[in-house]
Amino acid sequence: MKGEKFMIRVAEIKVSIDADEDKLKTEILRKLKIKEEELVNFWIYKKSLDARKKDQIAFVYTLDVELKKEKEFLKKYKGQHVSPTPDMEYRFVEVGKASLAMPPVVVGTGPAGLFAGLILAEMGYCPIVLERGKDVDERSKDVMEFWKEGKLKAESNVQFGEGGAGTFSDGKLTTQIKDLRCRKVLKEFISTGAPDEILYHYKPHVGTDKLRKIVKKIRNKIIDLGGEVRFNSKVTDIIINQGKVEGIYINGSEKIDTEIVILAIGHSARDTFEMLYDRGIELQQKPFSIGVRIEHPQQLVNNSQYGQYATHPKLGAADYKLSYHCSNGRSAYTFCMCPGGEVVAAASEEGRLVTNGMSYHARDKDNANSALLVGVAPEDYESSHPLAGVYYQQRWEERAFQLGGSNYHAPVQLVGDFLKDCPSKQLGNVKPSYTPGVTPTDLRECLPQYVISAMKEAIIGLDKKLKGFALEDAVMTGVETRSSSPVRIIRNEGLISNIDGLYPAGEGAGYAGGIVSAAVDGIKAAEAVAKKYKPIKLRV
Ligand code: FAD
Repeated sequence: MKGEKFMIRVAEIKVSIDADEDKLKTEILRKLKIKEEELVNFWIYKKSLDARKKDQIAFVYTLDVELKKEKEFLKKYKGQHVSPTPDMEYRFVEVGKASLAMPPVVVGTGPAGLFAGLILAEMGYCPIVLERGKDVDERSKDVMEFWKEGKLKAESNVQFGEGGAGTFSDGKLTTQIKDLRCRKVLKEFISTGAPDEILYHYKPHVGTDKLRKIVKKIRNKIIDLGGEVRFNSKVTDIIINQGKVEGIYINGSEKIDTEIVILAIGHSARDTFEMLYDRGIELQQKPFSIGVRIEHPQQLVNNSQYGQYATHPKLGAADYKLSYHCSNGRSAYTFCMCPGGEVVAAASEEGRLVTNGMSYHARDKDNANSALLVGVAPEDYESSHPLAGVYYQQRWEERAFQLGGSNYHAPVQLVGDFLKDCPSKQLGNVKPSYTPGVTPTDLRECLPQYVISAMKEAIIGLDKKLKGFALEDAVMTGVETRSSSPVRIIRNEGLISNIDGLYPAGEGAGYAGGIVSAAVDGIKAAEAVAKKYKPIKLRV
């Protein structure tokens, strides 16, 4: 990995995908009009892919360049796309003056909880991090058993356990947010086993295989820095006195006194949402999306996206991100696309079925899958209860469970049948990757009519953007309901809820949508605590 101090950032260096890395050096010398002796070193800051013209696919680089005399060079340089490299190093916030009698508690070890815990530990707050599920090794065994035999463990599954919801994922690290803390997250991933390229690649991803190792190393780092991480420890109650947190209960029995709770529970902790509602924590309905996973042969996607370069070794499995505005006013879009991946059983409750997608670092499986989602909003939930979005999700998950055969086999339909309003009776040439099994059927029975009609229109429309999207044999697997949280936990500018000392964070609180943004939100919650309180011990 590169060092931190650079002087010159050079953008828009375009090279053919067939060029080797030496070409970059030549391009720097050409663009800056300098001799080779003046160049000390260079590093890739960003690598993008320009695939707009399918017969001229190229990489476009932004490079950080070290010269013998950078300052003098910058004073004289008259061309475009060259500027001083900004300082992008993450720095801890200045700590506050209030004293903490007890260590802060972080609930959840998803990206938000792990990074909140890590920052607090790095700053000397000795956090206690609590996770309802098991450590990642034990959890992986439970998940594999569920995928093989359909035996669900309510506290140890794709949603619950060390690493949180993204552990069995593609590990895409793309994010819409622009925040310097993103680099802190990526660097932490690199220092615990992710490849260096995630810092600059146009579509960074790590894959579930690497993620499972990374989360374990971050946990050990928290412990080494004086924190504590406890599994099988579900927070079942929050003790509140005169509008302030005083402590929590674990598993209905063990009490921990604390003034600070960072609540990073993810979007699937429905029992915890109920507990928060009962304790008077302000919750609000929130829009989200529902739909299906759609699976195509990966080769079809490569051909459509890369044309003659479809098998080029430098490109890997192609992805896509598509959207369509439907005539019923709804938006349909693809989400969390997993090139060369698998559709996974992602349920966390008995009698309810949920799909999602994941891939390994190599992304080398036969199929590409993506969620095909339609936006839904509080008007659709038919109730003003803050948790009405959760009950709405549960209704469709139950129908999908029953439609699949009440054994966690997923209901599937071929795109061709779906478009003709015909139930599927058998599969075609695309083999579904979902396990423990699938049931060909009619997806109209497990999704609302407005979602079905929006998906139908979108599939035809999206076929014009990605050739083959409406492939007759492509498989749709229902239902995808957990794309984001249906609930928001209200927080103020200091990131505190209506209860003093309670800091909701991450996706479950409604402030993030993905691994990196959840991790960044966890860092922000830790910073909010640090700005108010002194560390418990001096920083290590
Ligand atoms: P979570 O990751 O959900 O973590 C919350 C944690 O809190 C869980 O471990 C849970 O067990 C624990 N918890 C809940 N309640 C309690 C309680 N009462 N007591 C103690 N612990 C509790 N995002 C991407 O950016 N890229 C991807 O490629 C990607 N793929 C995905 C694939 C799958 C299969 C899934 C399910 C999600 C995927 N996501 C992906 C989404 C991403 O995982 C989430 O956005 C992210 O994990 C949210 O982080 P979080 O920390 O807010 O919550």
